[in-house]
Amino acid sequence: MDLKGKKVIITGGGRGMGRQFGTDLKAAGAIPFAVDVIQENLDSLKADTGIDGAIVDVTNEASVEAFFKGYVDKYGAPDVLVNNAGITADGLFVRQKGEETQKFQLSNWDKVIAVNQTGVFLCAREAAYYMVKNKVKGVIVNISSISRSGNKGQTNYTATKSAVDGMTVTWAKELSAYGIRVGAIAPGYINTEMVAKIRQDVLDKIIQQIPVGRLGEMAEIALAVKFIIENDFFTGRVLEVDGGMRI
Ligand code: NDP
Repeated sequence: MDLKGKKVIITGGGRGMGRQFGTDLKAAGAIPFAVDVIQENLDSLKADTGIDGAIVDVTNEASVEAFFKGYVDKYGAPDVLVNNAGITADGLFVRQKGEETQKFQLSNWDKVIAVNQTGVFLCAREAAYYMVKNKVKGVIVNISSISRSGNKGQTNYTATKSAVDGMTVTWAKELSAYGIRVGAIAPGYINTEMVAKIRQDVLDKIIQQIPVGRLGEMAEIALAVKFIIENDFFTGRVLEVDGGMRI
């Protein structure tokens, strides 16, 4: 797909990697639109880059449906969806702390499943629905993670990111009949606020395990997003962009 003039919806587009994707895709000639939950971040995005946005909670079916309907009525069906919104709420599955045996909290399981799995499902479903209905041969890019293959302290996050991989392959097989491609990216540790939350000594140990010897940059993941959109032979696969690291 030639990016020029293409309509791209980016979830979690108000900050972090989503903001970078919007900025870089706009520079390549696309027309990005950000979906996020904090108005200030969307306002700053608009002021700095000119990219429009809307408040949408990706976990809420009614909000997601209303947003996509409104977007399509105004601009037409999107050419691309980048399913990027994601959160973490880490914890050990079961842990002995002194005399106390602790359990992973169900609330942290539910919270992460809602955004990273249900949110991805809902947004992809709406995007695919309007692409099919309007005969748009679009592209869906899902953001997975290096943690998809199992990471200590991330039962919930790992479950959602391996689900993202499975949904990517399933949708690629189903939607190829309509000329729609679906790919995913599994970034390694990237220089973002999400990673800044990791304790410095833990982060130092992580960096030692990255063959290129540093964190990834957001622009390096944006390049992967561009690659999947532009390469018409790419579908049903997960692109690993992780500096060579394996968890
Ligand atoms: P950020 O937390 O910086 O950005 C995520 C954005 O999604 C935020 O703006 C956040 O809003 C928004 N968001 C959260 N919940 C919702 C919701 N319910 N509806 C709509 N938007 C929501 O994350 P990153 O940029 O670091 O990560 C982006 C993606 O990349 C995620 O899917 C993450 O799992 C994945 N990833 C990140 C890695 C990294 O190293 N950072 C590595 C591998 C994968 P708010 O401002 O309220 O938080």
